[in-house]
Amino acid sequence: MAQVIDGKAISTQIKEELKEKVAKLKAEGKEISLAVIQVGRDPASSVYVNNKKKACEFIGIRSLAYELEETVSEKELVELIQQLNEKEDVHGILVQLPLPKHIEEDKIIKTISPAKDVDGFHPQSVGALCIGQKGFVSCTPAGIIQLLKRSGIEIAGKECVIIGRSNIVGKPMGILMLRENATVTIAHSKTQNLKEVCKRADILIVAVGKPKMITSEYVKEGAVVIDVGIHRNENNKLCGDVDYEEVFPHCSAITPVPGGVGPMTIAMLMNNCVESAQ
Ligand code: NAD
Repeated sequence: MAQVIDGKAISTQIKEELKEKVAKLKAEGKEISLAVIQVGRDPASSVYVNNKKKACEFIGIRSLAYELEETVSEKELVELIQQLNEKEDVHGILVQLPLPKHIEEDKIIKTISPAKDVDGFHPQSVGALCIGQKGFVSCTPAGIIQLLKRSGIEIAGKECVIIGRSNIVGKPMGILMLRENATVTIAHSKTQNLKEVCKRADILIVAVGKPKMITSEYVKEGAVVIDVGIHRNENNKLCGDVDYEEVFPHCSAITPVPGGVGPMTIAMLMNNCVESAQ
């Protein structure tokens, strides 16, 4: 029987640990604050922002909400971030993506001080990750490393295939697995013979953004399967990039959707905030 990797339980464990750290910092007179900026009222973004606020509340981090109109100019947003960069009592700055079309995301990401870049998207954070220096790591890939480690899954020396090469998941995931001494392949939309490539994997990490695309034809018997995808199916139920029921009998461990990778992203965001304050 495959092990179900319980992201909900592991993320709760991490949040409990952080809660203790935050209480200790508070006792020393240090309060942690996270600035959360949302532009417009996209319903999906509002759900993510609310979940982040709830996690802050649970851990004891003060969240400062900046809800800006959809029509806010790029200049105004840049100025707000610059002000927050200067504030000593703000430890993390998060701008909920995507942004409206008239605002250049890259420019906004670069405006956030790398010292407060708790999402780990700033080019300096990404560069530090690549050369093994200290810096904030993108939350979803960092959460996957925690899922594997805390589930007792050995990474060193294992063949790892990642499907997807996005800047926020696939690429940093590859670097982190390399840091953990896996042998890493990053597959993408132009990869030839994807099924064969995936069948090499002891650990298969799927961030392809296509509902239930990955069936047992892509999975080596006994592999560990990590599903990053989040979609709503025709019945409005959540599902991942992996066909969970079909793949389950063939793997040794698997993350469900929901309750796998998803909850880890916010837990690692909280972890980055605490690290920033420390
Ligand atoms: P993306 O669209 O930026 O990247 C998808 C990648 O998949 C691309 O690099 C592309 O080359 C590759 N790809 C697309 N079609 C392919 C194919 N047929 N064969 C092989 N490769 C193919 O997506 P992303 O931002 O990396 O997100 C991926 C998925 O993960 C999405 O479903 C997203 O919603 C989800 N996601 C979840 C979390 C979380 O917290 N759980 C966080 C971020 C993203």
